[in-house]
Amino acid sequence: QNKRAGTGKGKAPFFTTHPSRADTFTESVIREMTRLALKHNAINLAQGFPDFPCPPGLKTAACEAVKDDINQYAITWGAKDLREALARRVKTFNRMTFNPETEITVTCGSTEAMMASMLAIIQPGDEVVVPEPFYENYGPDAQISGAAPRYVPLTDDLSIDEEKWKSVFSKKTRAIIINTPNNPTGKVFSKQELSFIADLCIEHNAVAITDEIYEHIVYDGHKHVSIGSLPGMEDRTITIGSFSKTYSVTGWRVGYALADAALTDRIRKIHDFLTVGAPAPLQRACVAALDLPESYYKELAMEYDRKRQILYKGLKKAGFACELPEGAYYLYTDISSFGMSDTDFARHLVETAGVAAVPGSSFYANGGETKLRFTFSKKDETLQEACKRLETL
Ligand code: PLP
Repeated sequence: QNKRAGTGKGKAPFFTTHPSRADTFTESVIREMTRLALKHNAINLAQGFPDFPCPPGLKTAACEAVKDDINQYAITWGAKDLREALARRVKTFNRMTFNPETEITVTCGSTEAMMASMLAIIQPGDEVVVPEPFYENYGPDAQISGAAPRYVPLTDDLSIDEEKWKSVFSKKTRAIIINTPNNPTGKVFSKQELSFIADLCIEHNAVAITDEIYEHIVYDGHKHVSIGSLPGMEDRTITIGSFSKTYSVTGWRVGYALADAALTDRIRKIHDFLTVGAPAPLQRACVAALDLPESYYKELAMEYDRKRQILYKGLKKAGFACELPEGAYYLYTDISSFGMSDTDFARHLVETAGVAAVPGSSFYANGGETKLRFTFSKKDETLQEACKRLETL
């Protein structure tokens, strides 16, 4: 129920009481936790964005672009130089070949890429397989596009129960959403696991929509693999990426969708009417991002590895049960020993310890009440202070 509906003077107006698809999902818990953190002046380990600056060259490139009058609409599917730079990068890093003219679409973050992809391929009633736990946007993305989500859990040790996965695929399956490295668990899907998923997609004529936004943030020798690079997947994969996390520019809102020309045609059609295009001067600056040397990516993963250790040690000391993640920048903890539900405990943490985290239930259709997610995408000092506060619990 919308609490704002009605004025108290008689009946609520039609447009606030008439059912809409916005009633089919709840607001984002992650973003609500950020608002709560601000309200309580708490350290925000809830939402995944850095509290440290992006590389200085990118700031300069963004300012120069504005000064150079790159301030009007870019071509709707993305500035040509950015699409060409992306094609080069994806060829060397992801081992996939895309034609920048017909197969690459620059979007307003990967968030828009995912929404546009779903709207581009879903007919209301089509089933979409969503491995659980999942990044919370995927539920509403499915609802908005009219898809029927089929959730399939990862096992407790974050592997695939092949029989269970086979059983959720059917004639109605249109797509599966993959997220590797995974938010919230940090799981990096192996080539073998992705091959199993690819076989399911081929057998059931389904599309793999793969969110690879954390592709450069992997630890302990884990290797990121793009499912789109596997045999038979070239024309049935939409690979989604973003500048947000790799270059610490979550506020720029620049991402992309890579897919063969037939899929891209549809994605571009939706994208055009959703947003017209991503911010033009920032697209120019993203070309500069793609020019950074290879060492940048190595250092990024090393930096996050250090932060991962700081938060891991602090959380363990404070009584949280957790494992070191294989990738991404989250620690997914078990809070059973604290004897509170995830939502109560998250509120308690913000109000009493001054640290915000995300309740686990926001990553499940049903479940997750014993989990809490913390991000370590923050300065070392921020993480150290958060750990100190958590010890007082
Ligand atoms: N996908 C995943 C898995 C994420 O964790 C996030 C942000 O936390 C996003 C997408 C949103 O990314 P973008 O800023 O590119 O829209």
